[in-house]
Amino acid sequence: MSENYDVIIIGSGAGGGTLAHALAESGKKILLLERGDYLPRELDNWDPKPVFVDGKYISKDTWYDRDGKAFQPQVHYFVGGATKMYGAALYRLRPEDFGEIVHVDGMSPAWPLSYDDFEPWYSKAEQLYQVHGNGGEDPTEGHRSEPYPWPAVSNEPRLQQIYENMAKAGYHPFHAPCGILLNEADRPNSTCIRCATCDGYPCLVHAKSDAEVIAVRPILGKPNVTMLRNAEVTKLETDSSGRTVTGVVVSRDGDREVYQGDIVAVCSGAANSAKLLLNSANDRHPNGLANGSDQVGRNYMFHNSRTVAALSEEENPTKFQKTLGLNDFYLPTKEYQYPAGNIQMVGKSNAEAMRGEEPHLTWFAPEFSLDEVAKHSVDWWLSTEDLPVPENRVTTDKDGNIHLSYSHTNLEELDHLYKEFEKLLNHIGMAKHHVLHKNYYCHMDIPLGGCAHQAGTCRFGADPATSVLDTNCKAHELDNLYVVDTSFFPSIGAVNPGLTAIANALRVGDHLRQRMA
Ligand SMILES: Cc1cc2nc3c(=O)[nH]c(=O)nc-3n(C[C@H](O)[C@H](O)[C@H](O)COP(=O)(O)OP(=O)(O)OC[C@H]3O[C@@H](n4cnc5c(N)ncnc54)[C@H](O)[C@@H]3O)c2cc1C
Ligand code: SF4
Repeated sequence: MSENYDVIIIGSGAGGGTLAHALAESGKKILLLERGDYLPRELDNWDPKPVFVDGKYISKDTWYDRDGKAFQPQVHYFVGGATKMYGAALYRLRPEDFGEIVHVDGMSPAWPLSYDDFEPWYSKAEQLYQVHGNGGEDPTEGHRSEPYPWPAVSNEPRLQQIYENMAKAGYHPFHAPCGILLNEADRPNSTCIRCATCDGYPCLVHAKSDAEVIAVRPILGKPNVTMLRNAEVTKLETDSSGRTVTGVVVSRDGDREVYQGDIVAVCSGAANSAKLLLNSANDRHPNGLANGSDQVGRNYMFHNSRTVAALSEEENPTKFQKTLGLNDFYLPTKEYQYPAGNIQMVGKSNAEAMRGEEPHLTWFAPEFSLDEVAKHSVDWWLSTEDLPVPENRVTTDKDGNIHLSYSHTNLEELDHLYKEFEKLLNHIGMAKHHVLHKNYYCHMDIPLGGCAHQAGTCRFGADPATSVLDTNCKAHELDNLYVVDTSFFPSIGAVNPGLTAIANALRVGDHLRQRMA
């Protein structure tokens, strides 16, 4: 047995890394356990072949779908977690997302807290992660107590043209909120160089506002903070009452180690946090730790997402493309009674990254080389809310492996969003200035392995019968166990989940500081 820590945090991504940052100043003894290592800084970071074709930074994990078929999930085990690869589009959920929303396939439930409860933490999260944006441009956004700390990232000329065409056609495009360390007013001194290899790539120059750069590295010199890398937590042990976690079992360099903490925060990502709790079943918690409600692992969500490459006659030499968003269909409209979702950009495509999709693309534009397709494409991301369905769930088998059972919901809404998107393209000159006298839109739905936006497996709520966590993200059934990552989401909305995970970690961090004072 090792020495005792005040807080043990398991996972160093958006949730865990930010929680560690929030607690570091308290002087309490913190142990951060991360199963991955530092993501190596190397030229491959910005090379699409190793990143997209070879999947160099994707974990070697095997998960199984509901039919028992093996697949490789796109998860990333590094200091900083998924944020090392993320697109850093740091959106707040809309106020409506915190209430009940009627969808075509059912009800998206209300959160136990409101947008107003989260607003101060969103502001703090934006300050910490240095988010760029223009408040007030997007008609669906909630009120804000503080402006964005940085001005919006500008659109490059092709995107600005699209932005203006959208506005002229009566849409309400806005500058997307971005977490990159770009100083456009002083480019020679800017950490971010504004490149085309950001969304889905690690940042070679550490200029992305990821959890490693923003939250973890700045606290590592503190005497009260210890981080162990390559330290995979395999089990949580409790005392005989089952109310207190007494041992955090770690596999490190082939050895089994056990750590003790007064408070234990599981922040391993939605699927892995559920896995850890399920694999920690004991006499007092026969169905998995904190799982008297049978909700651990259930209600898995990851968005209905579609990427679209739209070709136009003009070339698109944009480097950093993720600067534009549109929420005109986020809420019900006069024409469609359901919320259809968010439209934003993805990272600029390139021939190498498209190679994995080659058969599809060759069909889509047979007369073009992939280079030409990439040169002309404008790349979009459409995202619709999926519902928290109990049967969509993580379970584990006798060897502790993840099984992910999932059926889509609200696909009609995604189809509606796509129809609106096609109309939009017609309005913004992508039909008129066509390629080979046709419109070319190539779209691809994100498969089960694309679990970038995973959430919901330990939802928070007031009722222990229907939720795993209370409103402070403490397990209802234990006195010292918290889950602080995207697992707590009772619903996912249709915007990216990162900022909400970060804001929540700051909120829970504040609660823990008060608890330990
Ligand atoms: C390619 C990509 C693009 C994305 N783009 C965006 C975007 O633009 N905007 C946005 O908001 N979100 C985006 N996301 C999603 C965003 O990164 C996640 O929502 C967010 O990081 C989730 O935070 P988390 O704390 O739940 O999990 P993570 O950030 O994944 O952190 C979990 C951590 O736990 C560690 N871990 C897991 N199991 C164990 C264990 N047993 N023991 C110890 N450590 C463990 C992992 O290694 C990891 O470091 C993207 C994700 C990906 C992959
Ligand atoms: S755009 Fe900036 S933050 Fe993103 S990878 Fe390039 S240098 Fe890094």
